[in-house]
Formats: sequence, structure tokens, C-alpha cells
Amino acid sequence: MSLASDRTRHGVLTVFVITEQVCKQVIGRGDAFAAVEAVFAAMAKGDAWNFPVVREAIGYADALYGFKSGFDKAGLSLGLKSGGYWPGNMKKGLTNHQSTIFLFDPDTGQLQALVGGNYLTAVRTAAASSVSIAHLARKDARVLGMVGAGHQSTFQLLAALEQREFEKVIGWNLHAPELEKLSKIADQKGLAFEAVEREQLASEADVIITITSAHESLIMKDWVKPGSHIACMGTDTKGKQEVDPELIAQASVFTDEIAQSITIGETQHAIANGLIGENDITAIGDVINGTHPGRTSDAEITLFDGTGVGLQDLAVASASVKLALEQGLAQEVTL
Ligand code: NAD
Repeated sequence: MSLASDRTRHGVLTVFVITEQVCKQVIGRGDAFAAVEAVFAAMAKGDAWNFPVVREAIGYADALYGFKSGFDKAGLSLGLKSGGYWPGNMKKGLTNHQSTIFLFDPDTGQLQALVGGNYLTAVRTAAASSVSIAHLARKDARVLGMVGAGHQSTFQLLAALEQREFEKVIGWNLHAPELEKLSKIADQKGLAFEAVEREQLASEADVIITITSAHESLIMKDWVKPGSHIACMGTDTKGKQEVDPELIAQASVFTDEIAQSITIGETQHAIANGLIGENDITAIGDVINGTHPGRTSDAEITLFDGTGVGLQDLAVASASVKLALEQGLAQEVTL
């Protein structure tokens, strides 16, 4: 992205501000898919790097705060997402997860843009699982199983439905009434929806998305049918867990970034139990780049561990800035 030219004149720096509202207006699922797929490919080629994640309890407002940052030399995105989780926000009418993305000019280090990160987090997370479905799920997948019905789940469902010709959606959530929002989306798309127990979900679904804050196995190895694709999207912190480590050991495992997967992602438990090693995990970018075949049989179980990397945030934020500029929706602030 070449935003740099002309932004500094006579010592005055122009910074673009892209609000949450503008992000919603300019970035669609197709743009997010393309941006995330490209950055996963760049990561696997060694053209883009994530820097170590910082995530700390700040000892105030029960908040968890941190940074995810990186540099994409291929797409020329440098920056960070700063934010975290404030559990008391709901009572104030705000989303518990709050984040802002900062983009810097890779040539000069000057601040380039401030981009609202809440909507983009949901969109880029949904894009990651849909990239995994596009590259790893069986082409004839017809039943989609949703585990979890929180904030992220509707974004996940909408993105997944675009990847295969699904005919039915089945769902499970800790609190069943919350499944209503997934049922509504299925209905709008002309698809049947059924609330089911977890074992039934795993035995019927061709593609399963887990997007919860669970700290235990919700899907057991023996429940999952051959040929399934599972996108584990909820586990992004040490201690969280969504599936049976034995399922991880049985599946062909792919991830956004191996270093994150084994430390804060879904594979952390299988690694800690000695069920798999780091070399058993493949970066999804290798499949995108064609250096790994991905799924090799109709019976194979494929599993994507989507841990959420800073480069995904930078990719969708850069795309938002570009689209907002094209559409005259970027605010300019001079510093
Ligand atoms: P949310 O708070 O809106 O919803 C939480 C969901 O988890 C609900 O469906 C809830 O029923 C379920 N849940 C909570 N505890 C559970 C338990 N013990 N057993 C089973 N289900 C349980 O959160 P959200 O914004 O939808 O995010 C869901 C998860 O995804 C969070 O853990 C979040 O940190 C994670 N996340 C991951 C990424 C990524 O890139 N991988 C990005 C954003 C969010």
C-alpha cells in the first residue's frame, strides 16, 4: 500500500482515521477472505512475520490488555492491534472485546492510520476459518455444525456458508436460546437449522466450527465422522480448549502460525500431552501456496487451529484504508 507519498509536507503529518462504521461500510467478506488468504500465503513464504504477542491482566476493571503486531513485507503492512477484553463493558452498552489497529509507514515509521478493530476482528477471524474450509473441506460438504453462539458465531456462519453448497446447519451452545441468531441466518439463506447435542453435531456435520471460550473438550475424537473438516477458532489463550487432544492426534492439523498454535492455540494440549509434535502441524499458507497438498483423501479428518495472528488484523486494516480512501470515507487528521 502506498499511502506514504505526500503525507508529510512542511513537517505536518496526515493520519487517516477509519472508524468502526466506515470499516463496516467498506470491507465485505470477499475483501477479508482475499486479504487473509494472501497474508497466510506470505507468512508461509517467509515474507511476513508476527512479533511476540503481549497479553496481560492489568489489575484494573478485570481487563486483559495486549498487542498483536507484525510486518508484511509482501503487502507492506506494518503495525499492531492494541486492545483486549473488558468483562464489565456489556453493562455499559459496549462490546467486551475492544481493539484499535495502528498502521505505520514501513519506509519511515510514521503513523499512517488508526483503524477501528472490533468489526475487523470478527471479519478477519471468520475469513480465517473460511479460508481453511475453502482449502481443506471436502467439496461435497453439505452439513455445517456450529459449536458456540456468541458474538463471533454469526460472522463465522455467514463466511462459512459461502465456501460450500451447504444444505443444513446444526448448532450447539451452552445456553441453547442463543442459537436463535444462527437459526435466523440459516433461515434467511433458505437452509434448515436444528439445535442438537454435541455428539450428534459431530457425527452429522461435514464441517464443524468451534467458536467458544471453553476450557475443556467439547468435541470428542470418537464422535467425529471420517472426512470431516474442523475449524477450531475459539482457543487463543493458554488454558482454553475446545476439542479432544486425541482428535488432534488423529487429524491432519493445519494452523495460521505454528508458534502460536502450540503455545496459545488448540494444539497446546496435544503438544503438552506428547500426542503430537510441532512437525505434525502444517501452516495453512503452505496449502495456499501449493507446497503442501492439504487434504489427500475423502476419509481424512482435517483440523484448522485458527489462533488469530496480528498480520490478519493488519491485512484487513490495510484493505479498509485503501477502500475507504477510494470511496472518500477516510477522515484525515493532521498532526
Ligand atoms: P462471546 O463471549 O460472545 O461468546 C462466548 C461463547 O463461548 C458463547 O457461545 C458461550 O456459550 C461459549 N462458552 C463460554 N464458556 C463455555 C464453556 N465453558 N463451554 C462451552 N461453551 C462456552 O465471545 P466471542 O466474541 O463469540 O468469542 C468466542 C471465542 O473466540 C472467545 O474465546 C474469543 O477469545 C475467541 N476469539 C478468537 C479469535 C481468533 O482469532 N482465534 C478471534 C476472536 C475471538
